[in-house]
Amino acid sequence: MTAEYDIVILGAGLGGIGMGCVLQQHKLTDFRILEKADAPGGTWRENRYPGAACDTESHLYCYSFNLHTSVSRTYAQQPELLAYAERLVRDGELTPHIDYNAEIVAADWTGDRWTIRLRNGDLATAKVFVAAWGQLNRPQTPDVPGRESFAGQQFHSAEWPAQIDLAGKRVASIGNAASAVQYVPEVAKQAAHLEVFQRSPNWIVPRGDRLYTGDELDSYARDPEIFRESKNALFAWRETTFQRMREGSEDAREIEQQARAHLAAQVPDAALAARLLPDFPLGCKRVLRSDDYYPALMRDNVSLVTDGIERIVPEGIVTRDGTLHAVDVIVWGTGFETQSFQGPVEVHGVDGVSLRDAWADGARAYKGMTVPGFPNFFLVYGPNTNLGHNGVLTMFEAQFGYIAQAAQTVLDEQVSLDVLGDVAQTYDDALQSEMDGSAWAGDCTSWYKNADGRVVNNWSGLVQSYVDQTRDFDRVAYRTVA
Ligand code: NAP
Repeated sequence: MTAEYDIVILGAGLGGIGMGCVLQQHKLTDFRILEKADAPGGTWRENRYPGAACDTESHLYCYSFNLHTSVSRTYAQQPELLAYAERLVRDGELTPHIDYNAEIVAADWTGDRWTIRLRNGDLATAKVFVAAWGQLNRPQTPDVPGRESFAGQQFHSAEWPAQIDLAGKRVASIGNAASAVQYVPEVAKQAAHLEVFQRSPNWIVPRGDRLYTGDELDSYARDPEIFRESKNALFAWRETTFQRMREGSEDAREIEQQARAHLAAQVPDAALAARLLPDFPLGCKRVLRSDDYYPALMRDNVSLVTDGIERIVPEGIVTRDGTLHAVDVIVWGTGFETQSFQGPVEVHGVDGVSLRDAWADGARAYKGMTVPGFPNFFLVYGPNTNLGHNGVLTMFEAQFGYIAQAAQTVLDEQVSLDVLGDVAQTYDDALQSEMDGSAWAGDCTSWYKNADGRVVNNWSGLVQSYVDQTRDFDRVAYRTVA
């Protein structure tokens, strides 16, 4: 049986759920959210490692249409963010619109609709297909020789086993970036010994997490506008930090000094501090915020390993200097496959063209949302919409408004809209030229860039500029296809 909808959304993470809420606001009610897992929350459902939290300020990390006034601390932890996602589902009355355990494997443009195929063989069709598949949900575990031969337990940070007890265990963490700096301090408290394998160090600035006081929480509950003012002020302040993302700028130097001072204050051992100092420009990789990562490395039961990993053997990890690091558990904090965007989902547009082929030289999309040859197809958190300086949910909200207007046009006028190839090309050229001189384009490896050095994940400017460019659906950028 084929279910027919006006709109199908892939994914019930914060992107897909937020999109659903905004469709409700626009009274576009014939939509279905298809989610592969059995619950909502996306990244906040998956990442349950100890210490998982958001390093964007809590007041920024919520939607303006559903302020998270009850959030208990300045940097919310995973359980509270998962609860926020569940609250969005409730408040947006989305439950009747979501199918769980409904993994989309393919979407094909069939003349005037999308035909969507699920893993279990079910079909759905939709006039509009919105992919909110996230940028950071396909765990990446590098192919280190011998990986499968390891006799102990090994898992990715995003697949942390619910029942694991690390007390008394010898643990290795491979990776030392945003996820690892959060779980390393927690694992260090439990493990007999923890070895942190660092391929490259990161710039780390202080975090300053704290609980909101009872008075603050009361005031937000009493008058949400006080919370909104705080949110807006944080947004405005974060915008002023954009210059840090320009390589060699005065602002970048200032933050680099802050990061150096943080390292010096927390790691008095000069030899260890030297191994923790990056040699690439600040912002090239994500700048981390942590007050407890460096102190964790200073513990007697923790050591930093900077010799490259050669292979894995049943007993543990062998480094290039020939040392065997015997461990019971390996945690792969090695990040995510971020370049393909579409993951394993096959999408075919006009004339059966594959999205994978269209993106062979790097994913790209007009305003991060539409791709020529793929009518009525929209992306949430698509190419070049990630941020290094501000809260990404503001980008999502801008996309929800634009996509809702576009969907309204498609449904009201019963048309199919395909972004013009030259418009998309001009947009992409301008965006990529703005990347010149950005920290992300600098000399380092990061998940922001593809193998050719093209920045495919990050937005090139101020968030306000993106919000302004996407406020109104620009119908003139689209052609009508039969
Ligand atoms: P990541 O930033 O991609 O870092 C992966 C880590 O694994 C790096 O330290 C990397 O080293 C290392 N690595 C990768 N392959 C390796 C190999 N073959 N051998 C040795 N080391 C290897 O991944 P992540 O820490 O999971 O973070 C990903 C993103 O998720 C973040 O940038 C952030 O946007 C998001 N995140 C956010 C939060 C939050 O608080 N909001 C928390 C966690 C994650 P190199 O640096 O040398 O490549």
